[in-house]
Amino acid sequence: MVFFSYKYFMPVTIIFYGLTRSLKKTIKSLKKNIFKPLNDENIPFEIYIHTYDLNELTNERSGENKAKLDHNSDLNLLKSVTKEIGKNLTIKVTNQENFLNSIKIEDYISHGDPWGHTNETVQYKSLRNLLCQLNSLRIISEIAIKRQDDAYLFIRPDLLYVDKLDIEIIKTCEQFPINNNKKKAGIVFTPPWAKNGGLNDRIACCSFESAKLYGLRFNNSQKYSQKKTLHSETYLDSTLYYVKRQRFFMRALRIRANGNISPDIPKFSNIEKQKELERNIADLLTEKRDLPRELILNICEYVDFRCYLCNKVLYPWKMIGYSGLYLCSNECYA
Ligand SMILES: [Zn+2]
Repeated sequence: MVFFSYKYFMPVTIIFYGLTRSLKKTIKSLKKNIFKPLNDENIPFEIYIHTYDLNELTNERSGENKAKLDHNSDLNLLKSVTKEIGKNLTIKVTNQENFLNSIKIEDYISHGDPWGHTNETVQYKSLRNLLCQLNSLRIISEIAIKRQDDAYLFIRPDLLYVDKLDIEIIKTCEQFPINNNKKKAGIVFTPPWAKNGGLNDRIACCSFESAKLYGLRFNNSQKYSQKKTLHSETYLDSTLYYVKRQRFFMRALRIRANGNISPDIPKFSNIEKQKELERNIADLLTEKRDLPRELILNICEYVDFRCYLCNKVLYPWKMIGYSGLYLCSNECYA
């Protein structure tokens, strides 16, 4: 007799794309909040990554100025982590300049530059960044969707994942099989923050059919730009028009190439109240560093600040973060 429980044979594909940027700071959160929850449930998964061989990054909008990038050491780090957890890793690296030379930005601006109002000194810089990101996503998705897995988790290597991956969403994706029907294009889970009038485009969990749309949306971007402004979140929203959408509660912080945490901290209304107190006290502590150490210790014990990754109690002199999301500054955010 063959004993078979489908629950344990649900293959998941994890897709990383875009610049690896700050992987050294985010790897601990990936291990704890993405890889471990899958392993704990015995859910098999494979990892795919595409990145560019870019050495230096300047981006006015994100405050990155000639920040050094080292994709080789980032990829080696990911290699050693995937080896440690016994998973397959597929790597693809291409050149960003070659890609930019292969397209004409004029083909994407029939309805204007979505970032035209932001006084960028380099014209179409953010639009180019979006196209590079969508191209990176496309390259690795083309390889990964050949597997026809049940669930595809699209994540970025420059995000610090604050919440544990909810395994239920993986199980739900498995309920939406391959059907090649455009109007029954499966299901997508995206988090309810940074939507900017569309869908959050930083994290997604898709069933197979919706993964094709999500992962390969670069292919339709030029056509879309001839009808509407090519704005990232609204374009994603339009791409997934026939897909069943659900929210999932996963917060992530964007970590810049220079190690700074982007100040756009995700907020969920249901946890706002409980975080308000922490925030107020944190403000007090940062303003009044000259309070007696004893008093600060008392306040911290009362508030019970804990690192989001390791759950250790935190004190102002060894914590980093904003708005109720804190990490230990010497271990989890080394
Ligand atoms: Zn920690």
